[in-house]
Formats: sequence, C-alpha cells, structure tokens
Amino acid sequence: MQTFIYEAQIPRVIFGSGTMSRIAEEVTRLGASRTIVLSTPGRGKQLAAAVADQLGGICVAALATAVMHAPVQVSERAVDTVRETGADAIVAVGGGSTTGLAKAIALRTQLPQIILPTTYAGSEMTAVLGETADGRKITRKSPYMRAKTVIYDIDLSLDVPASVSVSSAMNAIAHGVEALYARDGNPVISNLAEDGIRSLVHALPPIIRDLTDRTARWEAMYGAFLCGAALGATTMGLQHKLAHILGGAFNLPHAETHSVLLPHVVAFNAPASPLAMQRLSRAIGEPDPAQALYALARRLDAPRSLKELGMPENGVDLAVQQAIVDPYDNPVPVEPASLRDLVRKAWSGAAPYSS
Ligand code: NAD
Repeated sequence: MQTFIYEAQIPRVIFGSGTMSRIAEEVTRLGASRTIVLSTPGRGKQLAAAVADQLGGICVAALATAVMHAPVQVSERAVDTVRETGADAIVAVGGGSTTGLAKAIALRTQLPQIILPTTYAGSEMTAVLGETADGRKITRKSPYMRAKTVIYDIDLSLDVPASVSVSSAMNAIAHGVEALYARDGNPVISNLAEDGIRSLVHALPPIIRDLTDRTARWEAMYGAFLCGAALGATTMGLQHKLAHILGGAFNLPHAETHSVLLPHVVAFNAPASPLAMQRLSRAIGEPDPAQALYALARRLDAPRSLKELGMPENGVDLAVQQAIVDPYDNPVPVEPASLRDLVRKAWSGAAPYSS
C-alpha cells in the first residue's frame, strides 16, 4: 500500500485548435500591457509575427534569438532587451529552445510568461531550465520559471517537420518513462505519464504519413502536455542526466539524443522497475518496452546512434566519468562498467540487448 504526496503545480492550460487567438486576453488577465515575443530564427520568426499581430499594441518587441541548450550569453543579451523595452510579460512561441529562453529571462527578471509550444518537448510544464555555460549544462530550478499560462494550439504544430516531430515526441516519451519509475512519483503522475506515452506512440505513425493530420496532432500535443506535467512533478534519472551531459559536452541535439538513449536506458532500468515496465508495456502495446522503443524509433526514421549525431568515440569515457560524479536517483545503481556498455551501444547504434 503506497503512501504518497501529490502537489499539483501546473500552469493554467488552454488546449485546442485556434486557441492562439486567446493570447491578448491572457496577457491582460496577468495585468500586463508590454509584452516581448520570443522565437527561434527562421520559421520561428513568422510564428512570432503572427503572435505579435494578435497582440497588437501590447507587443513592444520581438526577439528571434532562441537557440538550443539555452546558452547564458544569449539569455543575458535578451534580458538587456527586456530592460531596454520595459517589457512586463514574456510570450514565447516555438519549441523547447524558445521556452528555455523565456525561462532564462524569467529567472533573471521574475517577469510572468505565457508559452505557446509548437513541438512536444514539454518544457512549458516545468520550472526547470538546463542552461549552458563553458561546455556544461547546469540545471536551474525556480518557481519564477513556471509559466503562468500555456496555450496549446495544434494549428501551430501542423508545419513542424517530421524529424522535429519525431525527436521531440521521443523526448516527451522519455519524460513519461522516467516519471514512471521516479522516487517521488505517485499513482496520479503515473496515470498521466502512461496516458501521455500511449497518446504519443499512437499519434506518431499517422503524423509521419501526413504532417497535417489534425486528429493525430491533437493526440500528440495532448501526450506532450501530460508527459511534460509528469516531468515537472518528479525527479528524473539516468536518461535525463546523460542527455544533459552529452548536450553540454558535445553540443548534441537535445531531443535526438534523448531518442537514441531511451531504449538503452529502459533496458538498463527494467530489472529494477517492474511496475513502471508493466505500465510502459501497456502504453506501447508491446511486451518488451526497450525493444519496442528501439523498433519504433527506426520505423519513424529517428537518428540511430550518438555517433551520427556527432559524438566522438572518445566521448564515451568522458560521458561515463561525468555521469558518475554526482550520485542521483535511478532505479538501477549506476556503475562505470554497466554505464559504459550502455553509452557504447547508444554511440554505435546497437540494439539494447545486444552483446
Ligand atoms: P527546438 O525548440 O530547438 O525546435 C527544433 C526546431 O523546430 C527548431 O529549428 C525550430 O525553429 C523548429 N520549429 C519549432 N516550431 C516549428 C514550427 N511550428 N514550424 C516549423 N519549425 C518549427 O527543439 P525542442 O526539441 O522543442 O526543444 C529542445 C530544447 O528544449 C533543448 O534546449 C532542451 O534542453 C529543452 N528542453 C527543456 C525541458 C525542461 O523542462 N527544462 C524539457 C524538454 C526540452
């Protein structure tokens, strides 16, 4: 009989199609009137222009400088712009990189944020930021980084490329998986995680067949919301630790790195987390979750190895050394030899149970 604590700490969520039209109302609801709109460059700039258009006179600036892994220099420059323009609220439209910039600014200014996520990264549901300085990704936690409102508008996800859709969804599944075996997990969060994983696994094949499949986009975004909420409520283990180390040390792409690591970490942790594996099997609809995730990633044409993402072979030992420095929660204790075997397989693209 499990004793548990459950403390709901998620932002106000507006979910649906066409919900971006609620943005001005949500800014006003916060008592703000001078917003800065954040995005990545390229397509992100067009999204930001559409959001700025909705905001009209209550948008004072648009900044398309968000990049992956939240480098501190980019955040500090953005804070200067916020101060120069006298912005009193942050609106971010884009994937986890844009949400990361919003959080980094909020951490330094305590301004409220409204996030419009376009990928499945799930960062909008957490008060955690992984920011990079000098080749290391440092985890920051602060209630100031929790968004006030998250507006999920599936229309904003329809043109997210297949590769980003798949890798960010695998990243979301990784959040759900680690929430299932987290030390501070509970049945409520496990239900969210299981349902979120099921939704994502079910939605991905139709999305790859037709990126504009609105039903599948709805289901994937819903799964990302649930897995993001599970991430925000629990302490992550080996999967997230390794992804952070590899992102910081080798500038590997975040979501793709998660995607490659996930089957290997599931195989590693399976012996010590039978209940989590039961739920994961049920969500995926396959008896062996590690094999099933490995096969799913291949079917969806996700990256196969850390090698192809740009990690050098001698990085395997560096990653192992960094990962065993601080002890952290993980169902199976992390020892150098077993961890090296895991990272080596992920590096080469071998199957999780291969020798
Ligand atoms: P991303 O935000 O870098 O986006 C990937 C690409 O998709 C970018 O080139 C972006 O411009 C493009 N894109 C986004 N929306 C688009 C659209 N509508 N149309 C066309 N292109 C679009 O990648 P991501 O995987 O969403 O996020 C990765 C980042 O998020 C990493 O920095 C990671 O550390 C962070 N993250 C943080 C948390 C957390 O809780 N702190 C959780 C997950 C991820």
